[in-house]
Amino acid sequence: MADKTLPLVYSCSGCSSAAQLANAVALKLDRDGSAEMSCIAGVGGGVAPLVKLAQSGRTILAIDGCPLACARECLARQGVTPDHHLLLNEHGVRKKMHTDYDPAEVDGLAAQAAAMLRAPG
Ligand code: SF4
Repeated sequence: MADKTLPLVYSCSGCSSAAQLANAVALKLDRDGSAEMSCIAGVGGGVAPLVKLAQSGRTILAIDGCPLACARECLARQGVTPDHHLLLNEHGVRKKMHTDYDPAEVDGLAAQAAAMLRAPG
């Protein structure tokens, strides 16, 4: 049963190491109960139930791997501005193609994201 009091977290989920790291951080927040992850592809694609959830007024954290900010832009297409935005490149993450992210980076970034969620929006 979904806890509707949890904040929502969205991540970009592209092909690069930074995008996959963003996805991994969002998954960690979801799995440890800090937030509920929802699907940014559905938001960007205008899929009705996912757009409705994004527009529900719950606190939102968007996690993006690079300044192109695909997750934030997908939300913007539906008139939604995230309360918090974690840009991984501002935390020392480099975007590499054809390369996996370093799993050792997930916990520290997830802790920073959780701290953002505890702070006022
Ligand atoms: S924000 Fe950057 S890293 Fe993430 S999907 Fe878009 S281009 Fe890729």
